[in-house]
Amino acid sequence: MSLIFDVHPTSDPMPARRREEILANPGFGQHFTDHMAVATWTAADGWHDSAVVPYGPIRLDPAAAVLHYAQEIFEGLKAYRHDDGSIWLFRPDQNAARMQRSARRLALPELPAEDFLSSITTLVGTDADWVPSGGETSLYLRPFMFASEPFLGVRPAQRVSYVLIASPAGAYFAQGVKPVNIWITESYSRAGRGGTGAAKCGGNYASSLLAQSEAAEQGCEQVLFPDSAEGKWVEELGGMNVYLVTNAGELVTPELTGSILEGVTRDSILKLATDEGLTPVERKVSVEELLRGIADGAIREVFACGTAAVVTPIGAFKDIDGEYPVGDGAVGEVTQKVRRELLDIQYGRAEDRYGWMTKIA
Ligand SMILES: *Cc1c(COP(=O)(O)O)cnc(C)c1O
Repeated sequence: MSLIFDVHPTSDPMPARRREEILANPGFGQHFTDHMAVATWTAADGWHDSAVVPYGPIRLDPAAAVLHYAQEIFEGLKAYRHDDGSIWLFRPDQNAARMQRSARRLALPELPAEDFLSSITTLVGTDADWVPSGGETSLYLRPFMFASEPFLGVRPAQRVSYVLIASPAGAYFAQGVKPVNIWITESYSRAGRGGTGAAKCGGNYASSLLAQSEAAEQGCEQVLFPDSAEGKWVEELGGMNVYLVTNAGELVTPELTGSILEGVTRDSILKLATDEGLTPVERKVSVEELLRGIADGAIREVFACGTAAVVTPIGAFKDIDGEYPVGDGAVGEVTQKVRRELLDIQYGRAEDRYGWMTKIA
């Protein structure tokens, strides 16, 4: 039986003038819409108590298992407003399926895909005025699930909360697309064999923060995590997948090994590559091949990809031995093209030839 998200409207919505002020310059992850979707799961009753309720603090017992053992997962996707005012999602079925895979890995209950989708359509329908328009703006959607059972024993929780919140997002590159510098860490790993690298869980992010600080000290915006076993293979950044463009016209991304997050953007680019006249390749890439390739020109461009930034050009890598600029430091032609093509599909400016878009309002 599927969940119904009954709407309990807030008695205290944000005044329209203040909302318009926020939407004119939303930044990222700082402002939230008037409502949120919630549902509860218990071992005895399954999923129930689903509703859209006023946005606000969650009451949590101090013994809630998530606060002690980090049994938590999340998703990230966007609602896009097209020029005609309609509102669309990009491949939400992929996020629903990935949330189920993450749930299995973290011993959390799976939320049926149709319930995941109806939480989104009901919340976005209720807070439709919060979907910004113009430029590369969107309403960022953050579904998450956590162990809310008050119990300090170590076992999968028998009470779990699902929450969906929404946050207006400005263009990621407000001042134009600018390449970022990447620190190759030798001190820290993101994910190990048999670990949670392929699950979208908060714990992976907690363990990446110190490496991120190390990168910042080195003047870098992001961290590249090599594999943990050999420290030899390129895996991904803390929250984005990686692509290389070779001078043989290949678009190469590290193959999924169980410790790499299966990005929806990564998968979409693999499918778009042939349309752009490129050969998509999933294989192992060593850090050595990467650095040699960008030095001798075999690798022309490198970019990172994910829902938040779509496609981010990488201008240089840095490690304890030195700095390695990619190409001439400008945004590469292929990077630009892939980025443009994805955005055009998402914003309804290019034909949706893969049936990726879902209209929700
Ligand atoms: C979410 C995420 C990505 C990107 O996934 P998308 O579905 O493209 O947004 C990549 N790596 C990590 C670690 C992530 O958490």
